Amino acid sequence: MNSIDLGGVGMTSQRTRERLVQRLKDQGITSQRVLDVIRTTPRHIFLDEALAHRAYEDTSLPIGYGQTISQPYIVALMTEMVLSRGARRKVLEIGTGSGYQTAVLAQLVDQVYTVERIKALLDKAKERFRRLKMRNITCGHSDGGIGWERYAPYDAIIGTAAPESVPEELLHQLAPDGLLIIPVGADGRQELRLIVRQGESKNFEEEVLERVRFVPLLGGIVR
Ligand code: SAH
Repeated sequence: MNSIDLGGVGMTSQRTRERLVQRLKDQGITSQRVLDVIRTTPRHIFLDEALAHRAYEDTSLPIGYGQTISQPYIVALMTEMVLSRGARRKVLEIGTGSGYQTAVLAQLVDQVYTVERIKALLDKAKERFRRLKMRNITCGHSDGGIGWERYAPYDAIIGTAAPESVPEELLHQLAPDGLLIIPVGADGRQELRLIVRQGESKNFEEEVLERVRFVPLLGGIVR
């Protein structure tokens, strides 16, 4: 696990971040660990300079290539779900994007694996992880619609782009009692689902958390 040195961040005041954390609490986020990590993670470095001043608003923002950095509330909610049923050691994220969700997770679990289909976004995210001295993140340039077999099984898998239906491969890559948290549905209107593998069985229980808007999960990679 990593912790971030706040020294010299300067960019945004502690008050702005405190306001964001209060907003997340008001919306029902209760995990103190998650709230603390959101408070101390410099979201502005995951954005281009022109948008950095909006980094502590509770909103998704463009990161180029038609993609977006997830809304802090959604990042907090998904992270809270990952931690909800005991410690999670190995987590796979599908859709690195800016790397913000990855960085939040990396401070709360042992090892994060993350895949992104657009190389330029992945390269920028890697540079940010280096700057933050985060060493428990393994990045892959690949189509996460088939998961990442190489490091499976995972204690949890989170999808930050939405497929129209749950890819079977992801279920196969869950460890016993593993969790899959993923938005599912057609373009721009999905439901966030929590799918839990029942022990070592091939049975899964499913729960709908809320209505959400994510970018679609697309096939293939962009070099
Ligand atoms: N967690 C990111 C969210 C970025 S948006 C953040 O907070 O910044 C979702 C990302 O998923 C986009 O960068 C998009 O390129 C990526 N994506 C879409 N389909 C994918 C796929 N099949 N495999 C890997 N990444 C994918």
